[in-house]
Amino acid sequence: MKSKLPNIQETIFTTMSRAALEANAINLSQGFPGFQPDPRLRELIAKYTQTGSNQYAPMMGIPELRAAMSEKTEKCYGLQTDMDKEWTIVSGATQAVFSAVTAVVGEGDEVIILEPAFDSYDPAVLLNKGIPVHVPLNPTDFSPDWELIREKTTNKTKLIIVNTPHNPSGYVWTLEDLEELSNLVEEFGLFVVSDEVYEHITFDGRKHHSLLTHPVLRQRTFVCGSFGKTFHITGWKIGYCIAVPELTEEFRKIHQYVTFTTVRPAQHALAGYLKLETFFDLPAFYEKKRDIFNEGLRNSSLEFEPTQGSFFQQASYAHLSEISDKELALKMTKELKVACIPVSSFYADGSDHKIIRFCFAKNDTELVEATRRLENLSSIL
Ligand code: GLN
Repeated sequence: MKSKLPNIQETIFTTMSRAALEANAINLSQGFPGFQPDPRLRELIAKYTQTGSNQYAPMMGIPELRAAMSEKTEKCYGLQTDMDKEWTIVSGATQAVFSAVTAVVGEGDEVIILEPAFDSYDPAVLLNKGIPVHVPLNPTDFSPDWELIREKTTNKTKLIIVNTPHNPSGYVWTLEDLEELSNLVEEFGLFVVSDEVYEHITFDGRKHHSLLTHPVLRQRTFVCGSFGKTFHITGWKIGYCIAVPELTEEFRKIHQYVTFTTVRPAQHALAGYLKLETFFDLPAFYEKKRDIFNEGLRNSSLEFEPTQGSFFQQASYAHLSEISDKELALKMTKELKVACIPVSSFYADGSDHKIIRFCFAKNDTELVEATRRLENLSSIL
């Protein structure tokens, strides 16, 4: 059969998690928490499977969860949203991104993708016959290079996909970034898909600025979010999309035929759990893990700047070796028994900047042990 995605291979997250398992390595590759979610949340989902909420949920998600999320959004960002017309509960942020891209992009439409970029963006554009236009982020801090983005924006540009806090670099967009984007959106009439799955994981007092808080961006943006990242339940595959009614209407036309609706007991459990407002504790929880990991990583001879957000820490070995990042990631997994992600996988053309990414959403003892092993990095280079 002729492939619709001839250049797409197995995702690096699958490859590296398998390699970690085979080598019995500490898996700091694929981004998922290495610990259990709050027992209260586990009790809630058990309760709702017992008490009969086991059939289809409404297409857009149960009202209790949309109400709770709309309330949370007001508390976190001072933002009023309409739970009926602007919220859709989906089967994970990847599905939200796919559905939003599909709602907007048609044949020949150009889509700006800022690289390094999460690997689901490109295929979503390609499957809709759009043309990805890759624009590198600033190589020093991974902030958007507005001059370059402007250069690459044309009358054919329909959409820009952004991600803050950024995977893999952790860069958190500033208010100036939002302002720059809004100028471009107004000038070229662009739509925006904003992947904000790490919204509650920011460090050193930084604040996440949702694109919805900007009056211009609010009208043109699909914000894609994730319960998995916020509540340590990536396996539940549940997320959401927020957009103004006109955009949500189109989004739902796609959503209802991609998956129709999302797992129901999880929705009830989350609606109940959100009342506890545990997401306010997340920055301190993950900042401690980042600091434990980075303290150990300092002895590894890798170079890095402490990540600003997300649960990822990037590090460079460009000063140590010429080995490709993919080769290094596999070698590190087999020989040092620590798995990471080669960041070349976040570039459509596989550009290798000799940077690797570690996920520090793991138990502290595991983080300490991983960095102890990484002290021997030079022995494998
Ligand atoms: N978002 C996660 C990461 O960047 C992985 C998601 C996946 O495996 N598809 O590691």
